[in-house]
Amino acid sequence: MRLYRNVLGLAAALAATLSISGGLVTAAGSPASESLTKLKAGNARFVASPEDALPVDGAKRAALVNGQTPFASILSCADSRLPPEIVFHTGLGDLFVVRAAGNITDKAILASIEYSVEHLNVPLVVVMGHESCGAVAAAVDTPVGQSLGPNLDYLLAAIRPSVKATASRPAGERMRAAILANVEQTLNEMVTGSHLLREFAGKGKVQFVGAYYELASGQVHFSEPVIVAPAGEVHTRGGHN
Ligand SMILES: [Zn+2]
Repeated sequence: MRLYRNVLGLAAALAATLSISGGLVTAAGSPASESLTKLKAGNARFVASPEDALPVDGAKRAALVNGQTPFASILSCADSRLPPEIVFHTGLGDLFVVRAAGNITDKAILASIEYSVEHLNVPLVVVMGHESCGAVAAAVDTPVGQSLGPNLDYLLAAIRPSVKATASRPAGERMRAAILANVEQTLNEMVTGSHLLREFAGKGKVQFVGAYYELASGQVHFSEPVIVAPAGEVHTRGGHN
């Protein structure tokens, strides 16, 4: 199964313009584009003024009793330092959030994302990794064959391909490379593992993008949008690295 390559690269390359080839999603003015713009604007508010109160109020809470229309789905690490609702400065009902250490995916996570796309019409799915991810570090540091218990072994096994793929990187950039590769891997698994998501992507109803969160600055860097080929292959235009 072909993996898409180089979705994520150096930080400078991550602040990519929203453009996509193949006619799957119309960039300017599309719901996915608008969602990405909202996420970037919300993150800019958080970076500039993290003390600003979140847009949460009773009227919105009451209105949401009748249903939800989140504008993006976020799969992120469970790390307490990057709650998506906060780092994107959003309120109740804005984001459909799924979290697991190491932002890995599996059937339960895929089903959650599928629900958001199929039933809530979410037009943008973001997989967000982050600086100094403990789950990726554990996968890097734990020798293959050493067990940390069945559940953690399962988690680390999901991350190991990215660790292996970046093993030759210089020590100073290894962790970051592994974290970015892990985001890429999750995106790939998400698309290849879900017929429903491929179908919706093919119809231009959903778009996928990778992201990387910096702890100190609070800034989120986004990758180029993922291009989903009909066969389930996913590509991006203009790779980095
Ligand atoms: Zn993490």
